[in-house]
Amino acid sequence: MRDLLRHVPAPRPWSMNAWIDRLERHRGRDIDLVAVDYAPGQPSGAWQRHDDFDLVAYAAGTSSLHQDHIIAHEIAHLLCDHRGECVLTDAEAARLAPDLSAHLLSHLLTRVTTNSDEYEAELIAVFLMSAATEDGARLRPGASGPAADRARRFASLLG
Ligand SMILES: [Zn+2]
Repeated sequence: MRDLLRHVPAPRPWSMNAWIDRLERHRGRDIDLVAVDYAPGQPSGAWQRHDDFDLVAYAAGTSSLHQDHIIAHEIAHLLCDHRGECVLTDAEAARLAPDLSAHLLSHLLTRVTTNSDEYEAELIAVFLMSAATEDGARLRPGASGPAADRARRFASLLG
């Protein structure tokens, strides 16, 4: 992931769309983002591999940082060349990464899950979002709520 970020650097200020544009050019393969209606308990993200592009669905109507994290998780699957599809529910995300404080992150890092692809994708999402927001001052103005708090914690934790 560090190597990828050297070739596909996180834009400053951070923009997931701008980063994905760079990633598409780097990979020579399109990534289509689709916002989908979201209700609590419903899947918040999904990824499907198609022959000539990848489709990533993410929840509309949640914070932009939460959306970025969902997208990062799904992008991680395609970067890792995982097979199959991901349908990420908030419950699953919460189970994988209940709260990314330093203590819990180290817990997560040492945790063995039965679903290694999901685990790997979530770790990469955490890493990407920490790189994306490592300069806290450039966090999107007005970003607030749990996702923004989490991003700021990533920044202080991993930056
Ligand atoms: Zn997943």
